Amino acid sequence: MSPFHPARWPERLPERYWLARARVPAALRALPAGETVALLVDGGRIAAIEPGAPGGAATFDLDGATVLPAFVDLHTHLDKGDLLAAGLRPERDLFAAVARVREDYARWTEAELRTRIGFALRTALAHGTCAINTYVDWPDPAASEGPLAWRVLNALKREWAGRIELHITSLLSIDRLADEAAATTMARSLALQRGALGLFVYPGAPVQWLPRAYELAERFDLRLDFHVDEHLEPPVANIGHIARLARLARERGYGTRTVCGHACVLGVLDEGERDRLLDEIAASGLTLTCLPYTNLYLQDHGHASRHPGQRRTPRRRGLLPVHEARARGIPLAFGSDNHRDPFFPGGDLDLLQALALAAQAAQLDDAVSDWADTVTTTPARFLGLPQADGLRAGSVADLVLHPGRTSAEVLGRPQGGRQVLRAGQRLAAELAAPPDFRELDGCRA
Ligand SMILES: [Zn+2]
Repeated sequence: MSPFHPARWPERLPERYWLARARVPAALRALPAGETVALLVDGGRIAAIEPGAPGGAATFDLDGATVLPAFVDLHTHLDKGDLLAAGLRPERDLFAAVARVREDYARWTEAELRTRIGFALRTALAHGTCAINTYVDWPDPAASEGPLAWRVLNALKREWAGRIELHITSLLSIDRLADEAAATTMARSLALQRGALGLFVYPGAPVQWLPRAYELAERFDLRLDFHVDEHLEPPVANIGHIARLARLARERGYGTRTVCGHACVLGVLDEGERDRLLDEIAASGLTLTCLPYTNLYLQDHGHASRHPGQRRTPRRRGLLPVHEARARGIPLAFGSDNHRDPFFPGGDLDLLQALALAAQAAQLDDAVSDWADTVTTTPARFLGLPQADGLRAGSVADLVLHPGRTSAEVLGRPQGGRQVLRAGQRLAAELAAPPDFRELDGCRA
């Protein structure tokens, strides 16, 4: 019988209880394979972690079920999420999708954004996520009030505090930094609302503006967050420029507050060039984010050259070299990226599902045991969250429990039987399942 069968697992848990025989991934807590621990939850926090449950409180036998800390999603686009429900279509090409969404801005209203973003937050909460970094398209850096989606996201950030910690990062092309006054206006707005400076560095982008990104980040005390090298066309790799600047900034005391997402091109460079760049990244303190959903879909997506109009099966995959990055100790996160928008028609802000996809695509052995940090502690560390400490006595008992005892069991049925605990309690029934898609029907113009 599943440890979460209603006969064994009440709707309302006591104030103080043991989760006995819990399996905690090795990536979060060094344990010999096959060994389990007992976690004492008291007053919403983990009070102790022991080899076995000594009693003295209600004991729930997890019978080897997996226990993870709540998920932290380092890379999402909540302003664009569920635009398919609003009538847009998948564009199957990065730049076509960028252009299509840009045309759609004029249609966006506060109510429509609140519907789509609220839906996304409730979905992520049901899946067990406690913190999200979202990008927000920032078409005009000179506008001091920022775009409408920024204002809506900031309001939702306050409303959702305590359930999901929302981090908001700008997204605009690096060329927009050419106008120093406008860029400064934007950086000041970001700093006032504790946002982060995010930039899109595309092939052929004017990388001469990258030093200005660091000037602004250091002046306004902002994290830096790049979409970079999201393509498979060598020899253009811009991430090396960022790594060199990140290293210099670190030496000046800026710390390791730069993340680079995508970097797909690293996966198709020749091995010598790839290794040289990864060595530079490792020395720079950059965090990398791999986005398997979007990049498996968007990269090498096209038509047969000899048979125009006929679809072609992809041969090159849009994955940064995660094993080689990990071997160098580079902090690595998997993220959700786009969901159900012109960039990607799937996704559901579920990091366990993203880990399952990454496990297949990048051949991760024993992915839950060995890579669970990529969706929990590593992104939490980058965002400066207490969840960076993972499971330890004293941390808030925000947990994801799964009946699977091995990576094969968990990732074979990532949704099946998952239990989300927040401050030691199960989510209320109306929050425990993701919302119904019909709630988005009003977004269609
Ligand atoms: Zn992205």
